[in-house]
Amino acid sequence: MNPFQTPIEYLKGVGLSRADVLKKELGLATFEDLLRHFPYKYIDRTRFYKIRDVEPELPYVQVIARLTHKELLGEKRTKRLVIQAQDDTGVMELVWFQGIRWMEKALVPGKAYIIFGKPTFFNGKAQMAHPEMELYTPAALLNKGNSTLQPAYNSTEKMKQFGLDSKGLQKLTATLLEQYAKDIHENLPLYIINRFKLASRATAYRNIHFPEDAAALNEAQHRLKFEELFLLQLKLLRNKVLHTQKFKGNIFGTVGNLFHEFYHHKLPFELTNSQKKVLKEIRQDTQRGVQMNRLLQGDVGSGKTVVALMSMLIAIDNGFQTCIMAPTEILATQHYATIKSLVGDDFIEVALLTGSTPQKARKVLHQRLESGDLKILIGTHALIEDKVQYKNLGFVVIDEQHRFGVEQRAKLWRKNAIPPHVLVMTATPIPRTLAMTLYGDLDISVIDELPAGRKPIQTVHFFENQRLAMFGFMKREIAKGRQVYVVYPLIKESEKLDLKNLEDGVNVMAHEFPLPDYRISIVHGKLKAAEKQFEMDRFVKGETQIMVATTVIEVGVNVPNASVMIIENAERFGLSQLHQLRGRVGRGAEQSFCILMSNQKLSYDGRIRLNTMVKTNNGFEIAEIDLQLRGPGNIEGKQQSGVLDLKIANLATDQELLIVIRHVVEDIFKVDPQLGLPENQILHNSLQEKGQGLSWDKIS
Ligand code: ADP
Ligand code: MG
Repeated sequence: MNPFQTPIEYLKGVGLSRADVLKKELGLATFEDLLRHFPYKYIDRTRFYKIRDVEPELPYVQVIARLTHKELLGEKRTKRLVIQAQDDTGVMELVWFQGIRWMEKALVPGKAYIIFGKPTFFNGKAQMAHPEMELYTPAALLNKGNSTLQPAYNSTEKMKQFGLDSKGLQKLTATLLEQYAKDIHENLPLYIINRFKLASRATAYRNIHFPEDAAALNEAQHRLKFEELFLLQLKLLRNKVLHTQKFKGNIFGTVGNLFHEFYHHKLPFELTNSQKKVLKEIRQDTQRGVQMNRLLQGDVGSGKTVVALMSMLIAIDNGFQTCIMAPTEILATQHYATIKSLVGDDFIEVALLTGSTPQKARKVLHQRLESGDLKILIGTHALIEDKVQYKNLGFVVIDEQHRFGVEQRAKLWRKNAIPPHVLVMTATPIPRTLAMTLYGDLDISVIDELPAGRKPIQTVHFFENQRLAMFGFMKREIAKGRQVYVVYPLIKESEKLDLKNLEDGVNVMAHEFPLPDYRISIVHGKLKAAEKQFEMDRFVKGETQIMVATTVIEVGVNVPNASVMIIENAERFGLSQLHQLRGRVGRGAEQSFCILMSNQKLSYDGRIRLNTMVKTNNGFEIAEIDLQLRGPGNIEGKQQSGVLDLKIANLATDQELLIVIRHVVEDIFKVDPQLGLPENQILHNSLQEKGQGLSWDKIS
């Protein structure tokens, strides 16, 4: 029996009511949860500050100062004790709102104290509320000099009422370690520990809570990060191995007529090197006899669809059926149009199946799928409904993966005795390390170049005082026959304000771009669906030149003639959203532009975001910077996963470590796919072990 699964109430000093609070407030239910409630920082009590050097950004600091003046201020609820403290560099103010009487008696003016607390500033003067006070003596000083990094734990108001502030948690953790440190077993193989010079697990847990010194703390953090990333990758890659063993795959032995015909006579352009590389990867995957599960990442317009189509042709050449599944009807319809225009009329039949396909037509489609007569089907979820049966579905393309759950993917596998190969396409680039973790069970292909001859979108950043120049630019582009998007942010909390922003903007614009020369479409969330559609249609048909919109236009409009994207209050958008919005232009033959409008005042992050957009069009570069700025927790698409709820490792800052570990784990499985070797026995156990703070059940 693993003692760390013991309910928290059984720990000495906890009991039922505190256990309840721990569970409700921080989700700490077992000994292990407490063990893995790591300090969020450490307080260094070996260091002393001079009052002159105390700054508001500092966490807890410690000064030695003489108390000079003591007074009681305020009445009843505003009553407080204020004491001035002085060293040879300055004066600071100490304040108590509680325990006033006791402190007043205990603290003696004229004497020096070791004062420890969180500095704040008031009227330019350093202040501390409720500092810890200790009479200054050489012995006390010596004691402090030895005292090491003290852990500070997250806690809540509610917990504090139960004596579970940082100090209280410290005590419980100390008790836990005292009693059970001997039960913390190693969970990594010895050869890994030796090779990477890792601290032992027990030592690491002790030092993460109560570090002997900074070096010990570093070692502990490194060990626990290593362990966390290692076990995560172990789990992900093992699933992949199991999957490979479980699911046989159809073998596409030949590249046949359809493919050659298309490649030599239909394909209107030369493939980019990236596209060729990905096709090769898919070719290899589909000849191994195991099911392919591949993620294809590439910016909008990088040419993913062509790659998908050519892979499908190979499948058909080998006697199989294929389909493309898109998350919305609009996208499905767009794919349908794209594919049809690529293959032309009498090359091969392409069919569309969505929620709004009429019953009768649907029946015919069903029959033709069952007979195997229909080879390419494009559609929405309708494709995987139970009543849709294929004769021999061999290759499935899923567009925009993050909207399809893993479960829906699995549903496809059950459509045949041998599951089809699956290619997942996404236009939201994410950094490699994130992809490795989010889609750990998929192989990853990347298209990271745009087709030749494509003109990169030119992006500039204008401040509010350059608005007239921006209007002038719009007019010149419209005079050339182009169309313009103007996008306003819409954030739930301030929806009203945002809408007002948009309306004000429209008023200014209506003045600047008067009828009948200019026409403006306006689209925002408060419009009825039909009104929205009407306004969009006018823009798509070119009846209006300007589309003013909130971010609703993110969802699948494609207007190649629109070549200017203006983003208002651009500083309020996240990087990936800015990149997505910009991707709305640059779809036609014309040079496209993006103008980022912002306030004069920008936050540090805001400035980096806008500069990044100006500097690069590369979605992967942008995603990387986004990850650094926001941390992995906020990256789009991770919601489905839960695997990013890492306790101590950080996918933004620990990328190098993750890549090293990924290779190590890959090598382990190469040599020992069953983890059957004696030295890997321990990994078997680690995988069985419940609750490494990792959400195993969410990983698949
Ligand atoms: P994605 O699906 O990645 O957004 P598409 O496959 O729809 O991109 O391609 C965008 C456009 O670029 C399409 O019109 C397509 O025909 C065209 N295209 C794709 N590959 C190339 C290429 N190698 N050279 C020129 N044009 C290409
Ligand atoms: Mg596409």
